[in-house]
Amino acid sequence: MAPVLAPGATIGIVGGGQLGRMLSFEAHRLGYRVAVLTGGAKDTPGGRVAEVEVAAGYDDDQALERFVDLCDVITWEFENVEVGLLGELATRAGVPVRPAGRVIAAAQDRVRERRALMAAGAPVAAFREVTTATELVRAMEELGPPVIAKRARFGYDGRGQVRLTAVDEAAARQVVGGLDGERLVVEEVVPFDAEISVIVARGIDGDVAHHGVMENVHVDRILDTTVTPALSVPPGVTASALELATAIARHLDLVGVLCVEMFVTGEDLVVNEIAPRPHNSGHCTIEAAPTSQFARQLRAICGLPLGDGACRPAAMVQLLGDLWGDGSARPPDWSAALADPGVHIHLYGKEEVRAGRKMGHITCTDTSAERALERALAARRRLGRRS
Ligand code: ADP
Ligand code: MG
Repeated sequence: MAPVLAPGATIGIVGGGQLGRMLSFEAHRLGYRVAVLTGGAKDTPGGRVAEVEVAAGYDDDQALERFVDLCDVITWEFENVEVGLLGELATRAGVPVRPAGRVIAAAQDRVRERRALMAAGAPVAAFREVTTATELVRAMEELGPPVIAKRARFGYDGRGQVRLTAVDEAAARQVVGGLDGERLVVEEVVPFDAEISVIVARGIDGDVAHHGVMENVHVDRILDTTVTPALSVPPGVTASALELATAIARHLDLVGVLCVEMFVTGEDLVVNEIAPRPHNSGHCTIEAAPTSQFARQLRAICGLPLGDGACRPAAMVQLLGDLWGDGSARPPDWSAALADPGVHIHLYGKEEVRAGRKMGHITCTDTSAERALERALAARRRLGRRS
């Protein structure tokens, strides 16, 4: 039997965002305490609902030590963090880090990520690692345009990505010039039919569980909608996606939750990226499943059984800062969205509204994913702007 971290213990969450906030809600439900390390910001979405918010940089050794001392286990809601010092301090203090720092390090660097995926037997898009304009031009010639160039480290929501449609030395110099010596991953554009994700959890004892397949639509490279079960994915592909995600979790010796994002082309799958934490595309599990992705993360890192994660048909639509309009003069009309009694609104408690910033989301469950999506989209339209 794996050792259980009993309720009453303190869960340390690295990152102050909404994913940690939703994990905190689950932790509190089970009687755990929560400490959040924010990276510097105060009054963060996660920190505001935790017992302790450590508003310090991830490289502040004294603050990290204080944070580690508070925690009985440390987990992540954000992976773009240098893991070295935190890992060392945690090891010295005997505090388990779940998922382990090496999993975080693999996920935060697109080159290491791809190597880990290939080692796990997962198909990835053809890619090259590039640091100079000459290498970029060669990569474009070899892969054939169009390609997408992505910063190897610390990208999210499409930041640090450019699409290059023709082999062009001047464009290559411009892309590389802005990098400050950072490496790039240049990869072929996958002409996908659909984007899907699987959120897989793995416990300390090696038990693996998932919530089925989510189908995702991105707008301007930011996740806009998710439905489950996936609408436009052949059944064989669904089974392969679940198998792939399980194999990756096992290969990484994961303890915690991992999202595997994939492209579907016909009957084939290509793994795009992994995130070793709950994911935007799993938000609907809060209403759709008896055990949500957040409850699962908590259970996995505490050595508890992973629970039932099977989802009813559901949809999630994202609420971005754009909905507030210019200068946030007019907040969205929440009561109009809630006129449908089946609408669930989640807001992350962010005071600063910015276009493109994730402020919240709406979830609906229904008898089919299509109906759930229709209702969630209609609710968002009633908020006043952008659909
Ligand atoms: P992020 O870390 O910002 O989420 P992703 O690599 O997942 O970065 O890219 C964001 C989105 O851009 C993807 O969900 C997909 O819609 C699109 N995209 C990224 N890479 C490719 C690719 N190789 N081919 C086609 N579309 C892609
Ligand atoms: Mg992504």
